[in-house]
Amino acid sequence: MLIDIPFDKRHHCWFCGEPSQVKFVFPHEHHIVLDCPHPPLMVPCCKECWQIARQVTEASIWSVNYVVKRKLMRKYHKDLAIGLNWTQEELANSQFEGGNFEGFQRSGWFMYEVAQNRVNYIGWPISLDGIEIEISAVLTCFTFDGVTYPSVDDAINHYVVNFALNEDFFKYVLYQLGEHRFSEAVRFCRLQIGSTPSERMLALKNFFPEFDL
Ligand SMILES: [Zn+2]
Repeated sequence: MLIDIPFDKRHHCWFCGEPSQVKFVFPHEHHIVLDCPHPPLMVPCCKECWQIARQVTEASIWSVNYVVKRKLMRKYHKDLAIGLNWTQEELANSQFEGGNFEGFQRSGWFMYEVAQNRVNYIGWPISLDGIEIEISAVLTCFTFDGVTYPSVDDAINHYVVNFALNEDFFKYVLYQLGEHRFSEAVRFCRLQIGSTPSERMLALKNFFPEFDL
């Protein structure tokens, strides 16, 4: 059964907010779920999310949503990275001339905003014939610097890849500092790129003498 769709969302993909073109049925004939916590249902979505969602083998529509978001993030990590490396003004004022860079300057920020909005999009609450279905999945999203990541691991992965950070070291620093000091952990680890393990540990002691290393 098609979920209820608020009037202002009637053209939205339930997963990412882009224009909807198709309907995604869950559970479906290629993925039967015995302990699905909600009745079979159908959500409007874009073709791209439909293709991703069809391959997901999860137990509820909310966990399908979680996986779709993770896959969108991985697919568009280069677009999302534009916002890590530039501000809108810097990009507009950059002196790129000729070739591919001109195109990047023109459309880069737009690509970033589209990707960011899709990853951040939160689908409306699911109801069937006016009866709301309670969310049964554990939601673990993590928001940092304007982007909502499906989990803190996705945020870690995004920063490790884009800034070429040492993953184990970054996780270690973050573990010591706590998730609420994510930006400090990023800044500190960016300074340590190219350091040896012992140099990194020495820097850690100097920067954060309160750590129990
Ligand atoms: Zn979509």
